[in-house]
Amino acid sequence: MPFFNIYNKALSLMPLEVEEGVTLYKKAPLEELMFVADRLRQIHNPGKVVGWMIDRNVNITNICFSQCEFCNFCRKKNSPDAYVTTIDQYIEKIDELYRLGGDQLLLQGGMNPDLGLSFYTDLFRKLKELYPSLKLHALGPPEIVYLSKQERLTFHNVLTELADAGLDSLAGAGAEILSDRVRKIVSPAKATSDEWLDVMRAAHRINLPTSATMMYGHIETIEERIGHLVKLRDLQAEKEKDHYGFITFIPWPFQDEGTQLKEKSGVKSSYNSHDYIRLIAVSRLMLNNIRHIQASVLTVGKETGMLSLHAGADDVGSIMIEENVVSAAGSKNRFSAEELQSLVKEAGFIPVRRNQKYEYFS
Ligand code: SF4
Repeated sequence: MPFFNIYNKALSLMPLEVEEGVTLYKKAPLEELMFVADRLRQIHNPGKVVGWMIDRNVNITNICFSQCEFCNFCRKKNSPDAYVTTIDQYIEKIDELYRLGGDQLLLQGGMNPDLGLSFYTDLFRKLKELYPSLKLHALGPPEIVYLSKQERLTFHNVLTELADAGLDSLAGAGAEILSDRVRKIVSPAKATSDEWLDVMRAAHRINLPTSATMMYGHIETIEERIGHLVKLRDLQAEKEKDHYGFITFIPWPFQDEGTQLKEKSGVKSSYNSHDYIRLIAVSRLMLNNIRHIQASVLTVGKETGMLSLHAGADDVGSIMIEENVVSAAGSKNRFSAEELQSLVKEAGFIPVRRNQKYEYFS
């Protein structure tokens, strides 16, 4: 087995070099990668439990100055369908979330120049006042960078104010690929790689739980995908042992439908099921210090999601009652709570509902 030494290193939870990750990605047989990744999943998460959750995505606004090339959700301020969600609309959506048994909102949206830090702190306080048990998983490093520039505050200060106002965890949004070569082409107005990582570092220092993501399958190279994983792993290695850090890693493929990247530049999504499973498996081998890996069933669908659970993933994410950014770019998958659980069972695992901190409901 030519990759035996690298597999052994990974199974000893030693950090693999970029070159080792690239070699595995390009050359290792998929069944071997899946086997080793499954063993590693067992080391990090013994047993057959696969997490899932109920939450609801609400977009704070679709007005965004960034105009990323892969996004067809954002609008300019004077666009006829531009919006900022009102409190009445939040109430309607949260009431529905509670009726369906969930208690977490994923709040995302654009970087709207009219909305400063006080808008977000007021919003979070209001929502917590109306629904004290509500959990807010919200914003992401690009918004924190934007607010920090707008308000002339450090990342630490912006995050502290948001956490004081009710932010429970920071979403790993806007990571795309942590390579400035890629970012300059697909999202030139957004946070740089270092800014994204610096925000996460500041969040980890105040022990705000975070997630890490990757949006791949556009113009990046395999080397850049592996470099992305190494950056996440190195940052995670810096955190205090008892701090949350990155609780999970969630990769999903570029959805190209109607995006500028496809329409103007002819970049189509390179997604295919085998490559997604390979990415999940290699991620499990590279990320020796991130416990959970989530298969994005919303974007890759049932069969690929099920196979991912045999390739190192231990979570299928959320039924996501409303999702507009990915679905605006072509994702058609939808799952009810029952469907998500039967997908896990069909794959041979035990679905257990969890919260954003990956605490499982018994
Ligand atoms: S992906 Fe996010 S930051 Fe980029 S244009 Fe869309 S809403 Fe704005």
